[in-house]
Formats: sequence, structure tokens, C-alpha cells
Amino acid sequence: MRARTVVTHSPEETMALGAELAQELKAPVLVLLLGDLGAGKTTLTKGIVAGLGAAPEEEVTSPTFTMIHEYGRASSGQAADRDSAVRVYHVDLYRVETARELETLGLEDLLAERAAVIVEWGEKLGPVLRPSVPGGPGSVVEIHLEAKGENERRIEIR
Ligand code: ADP
Ligand code: MG
Repeated sequence: MRARTVVTHSPEETMALGAELAQELKAPVLVLLLGDLGAGKTTLTKGIVAGLGAAPEEEVTSPTFTMIHEYGRASSGQAADRDSAVRVYHVDLYRVETARELETLGLEDLLAERAAVIVEWGEKLGPVLRPSVPGGPGSVVEIHLEAKGENERRIEIR
């Protein structure tokens, strides 16, 4: 993923950026979203999930209570569809407080499925707790989001 910083001026612009970034993602990949409440992490995820073709934007909601939402799993339909579907896991670590709880989520197993794993509150996955990605450190993307005003968001891709 090419490093850059983008400033968006509406949720729609942020979703469009997410869809654009999705074109550069190749599963298995771990996408860490860092930034405060309201910074736009869920909004950006909507665009990424839609851009990956896993679900429409409006179906993507915050997994704050369930911790993980899954999109793009072709559980019905043709075998060919199932093979081509990009599986996306959308994780919210807001309520996770201990390393043990993190372990229970099994992020490494999800990545082993060659999925795209998008994590809100990526701050909670410090170097020690970060799951290993089959593609190595090159398959980890860090995106820092910051509110600069009511509708302005600074989004830095590292
Ligand atoms: P987070 O998941 O980081 O808590 P959300 O994406 O759920 O943040 O919420 C972002 C809020 O900010 C939404 O209410 C959204 O409408 C608003 N917003 C305003 N401008 C933007 C923007 N440029 N990008 C993303 N969200 C924006
Ligand atoms: Mg959120």
C-alpha cells in the first residue's frame, strides 16, 4: 500500500477513499485503523468492504458489541462464487481490555483463511500482541484517522 495522507470533507469522501484503498489490498492482509471515537474508522471500513465487493456500504455497521462482523462469505450459491469471494472480517477492539480477550478473538486464524481483517482501535494491537500475517509485515497496513473539524478528517496511510 502506497503511503500517503488524504484529507476528506464528508463521510462520502471517506467511503470513496476506502473503496479506492480496497483496490490496493491483497488478502491475507491486516488493516489497522487507529484514531479516536468519531474519527471515521467505521465509515472508512464501509468503503473498504464495499470496494472489496464483500458487502454494500449500508450493511457495514460497527461491531462494537459482537467484536467481529463477517462479510463476503458465500455460504450459499455456487462453489465458484465461494472460491472467488473475498472474505472480510471487521473487528472492533474498543471493549477488549486484556491480552487473553484478544487471543480469544483468534485474529491469526482469520488471517490464515486468507481474509482481509480490518481492525478498529488498532492501537490495542501493539507490536507484541499483533497477530502474525501469512504475508509477513508487508501485509500489514496502518491507517491513522484524526478529526480536524466537524466534517474534516485527516487520514494517513502508512
Ligand atoms: P469511528 O468508527 O472512528 O468511531 P465513525 O465512522 O463511526 O467513527 O463516525 C464518524 C462520524 O463522523 C460519523 O458520524 C460521520 O457522519 C462523521 N463525519 C463527518 N465528516 C466525516 C468525514 N470526512 N469522514 C468520516 N466521517 C465523517
Ligand atoms: Mg467505529
